[in-house]
Amino acid sequence: MITGRCLCGGVRWSASKPASAVHHCHCGMCRRWTGAAFATLVWFPRSAVHWTGEPTVFRSSPIAVRTHCGLCGTPLSLGYDSRDDIAFAVGSLEDPQSVTPTHHYGVEGRLPWVDIGRDLPVRITKERW
Ligand SMILES: [Zn+2]
Repeated sequence: MITGRCLCGGVRWSASKPASAVHHCHCGMCRRWTGAAFATLVWFPRSAVHWTGEPTVFRSSPIAVRTHCGLCGTPLSLGYDSRDDIAFAVGSLEDPQSVTPTHHYGVEGRLPWVDIGRDLPVRITKERW
């Protein structure tokens, strides 16, 4: 079981299956969503995810929604309407060292001073909106 929560603890999540993917995302939307230089996302099948507490839902594009804690603001999840998996911000994991990123996404938006995971494969953002 992998568990996570927001800063105030008002919203908690758990996943009963192992992560299906772990990657950094450098797109501008993830940057603004997290308020950080990039996001690190951990994906699970939606069917394996259980929420405790109610996250605030924000439609960040015509094809995806993101959630955060409405009280403390911690970014929590990203989900595409067309996909049956959901990603959580790695910073929300209780045990973030339990997962290891394997690639970069959205590298066209990578900041020149972001020096992390140099040897990992890179992908550009496919969808534009
Ligand atoms: Zn909170």
